[in-house]
Amino acid sequence: MKKETHLKGISGSPGICIGRAYLVDHEGVDVVERYFIDPKDVQKEKNRFKHAVQRATEELKTIIKNISKDYLRHAQILETHLHMLKDKMLYEKTLSVIEKERVNAEWALKKVVSETQAGFKEMEDPYLRERAADIAHVGHRIMLNLVGAYPVNLENIDKRVILVARELTPAETSQIQLEWIKGFVTDYGGAASHTSIIARSLQIPAVLGLENATAMIQNEDILIVDGSVGLVILHPKQGTLKAYKQKKDRYEARAARLIRSSKASAVTTDGHPVSVMGNIELPEEVVAVLDHGGEGIGLYRTEFQYLNRPDFPSEEELFEKYKDVVDVMGDRPITIRTLDINGEKAISSSRSEMEKNPALGLRAIRFCLQYPEVFKVQLRAILRVAKIGNVKILFPMISCMDELLTAKKLLREAAQSLEKDGLPYAGNIPIGLLVEVPAAVTMADVLIREVDFFSFGTNDLIQYAFAIDRGNARVAHLYRPLHPAVIRMLKKAMDAVIQNGKKGIICGEMAGDPLHIPLLLGLGIDELSMNAQYIPLVKRMIQRVSLQESRAFVQSILNETTAEGIRVRVFETYGDLLKNGIMTEGVHGDPVPLKQAKEKR
Ligand code: PEP
Ligand code: MG
Repeated sequence: MKKETHLKGISGSPGICIGRAYLVDHEGVDVVERYFIDPKDVQKEKNRFKHAVQRATEELKTIIKNISKDYLRHAQILETHLHMLKDKMLYEKTLSVIEKERVNAEWALKKVVSETQAGFKEMEDPYLRERAADIAHVGHRIMLNLVGAYPVNLENIDKRVILVARELTPAETSQIQLEWIKGFVTDYGGAASHTSIIARSLQIPAVLGLENATAMIQNEDILIVDGSVGLVILHPKQGTLKAYKQKKDRYEARAARLIRSSKASAVTTDGHPVSVMGNIELPEEVVAVLDHGGEGIGLYRTEFQYLNRPDFPSEEELFEKYKDVVDVMGDRPITIRTLDINGEKAISSSRSEMEKNPALGLRAIRFCLQYPEVFKVQLRAILRVAKIGNVKILFPMISCMDELLTAKKLLREAAQSLEKDGLPYAGNIPIGLLVEVPAAVTMADVLIREVDFFSFGTNDLIQYAFAIDRGNARVAHLYRPLHPAVIRMLKKAMDAVIQNGKKGIICGEMAGDPLHIPLLLGLGIDELSMNAQYIPLVKRMIQRVSLQESRAFVQSILNETTAEGIRVRVFETYGDLLKNGIMTEGVHGDPVPLKQAKEKR
């Protein structure tokens, strides 16, 4: 009898599965030896490399051609890989190493891949840092062809298994027959890796970053994967198996109930409807928003069309991307946020000089106002798509009236230029201001007069209000949406919204946590927008709360002085609702450790 072993990794995708392991191995490509090439054979070696790239290209093209509609997101990733195969930094560089150092192609490739990867890993931008994995996947595919190893063929899996791999490449995951895969377990990868993104979108439990899963687990071993908490149990005992089977049934029943109930509208117990929308980055995510009961797109982050490329996208390209979203959403509302680059996300075409403090630098609207020719391309694309869909526009990072008025002026100019060009467009679309700089809160009463709605980007608002880098784990403990400073800022701005008869929306992560719902409703928020997976929970919470009571609740906590104080008050008032079917194990993580909060209060 083998010993039950618990392996702790990162939660990649929630859910529980129990089954046998299927190891995905890439033998023969890990140990690469170096040998020198005779000068007269250098050209032959270069050709060998070129042929391997050619075969890798053909393989990828075939995979892309056969990709099922469940994997649209994959196709996009694989298209990028296809381009990377012939990218200068990989292709030309490897050829040049073969020639200059007179080494075998495998060694040259390995050297170039690891140098390029190291370059990406050092980048400040987390998105670009993640791209180091893409370089590895592309290099790996060429390497398989060089050494003549067979790529793993996941298409042949014909029984329900849990995949265990060092890392699954997007090309591999795209071949998986969904009905055969119960879960993923990998040595590498974090919550932002492709495997995790894909597992979440396919709703398959996944635990990543286990480091030694492939060393510890063997084919056919029995595993329990608890993706919600990032736990893998190897050789579970009978008692553990029984407990997890029950846990799994409970989880699935709850998830199904939640999804079913998410189709109902979110109306409070006293009859007040609240719009619950989804946040998206790519058009492909729209379907998940609808599946989870989202009533529209409350935040379409548009910067992803500008990343990973040397130039700016054309008006036509952007129009098509926005139209993809409109085509699925029909006349449901879509709020398109204008370009928010630099800061966290940087694009190569904008990074002319490095900034010491990118979050405080030429980011979002500041960048757009400095480069109106880039901005106007996007404004024209948005105005054109607004003619065929229910589209609103949202300006990020506005910190003063001047910026807002200039942005509006550029929007008018974009409309005039479309008029001149005789292109169809909507001239009068609702304009929103993304409140994420504390100065905008201070000036809320005047800024609100110039727009139709405020949307609160609490991720940045909290970052800037508390002077904490939102990506820095060392100050993460200071990131507290329930801090009275946050509640007071929201209250001040929402009072201005209400007095002017405008609308208030929350689109930061704060909107996706049921714990915050009574407070947000009580402040007068009209609409909440969040990641698709949280929509059912949030709708359910709204359906259990009375608007009138939540208003009184907000009044009653305004004199609290600490985040802990507010948290305890939320639990005292709404704890039963939250615990009763909303914040139980596995779906939204554990409830806040109340004991600690009470002690600190
Ligand atoms: C926010 O800051 O809360 C927000 C919604 O924008 P992002 O997370 O894209 O910065
Ligand atoms: Mg923001």
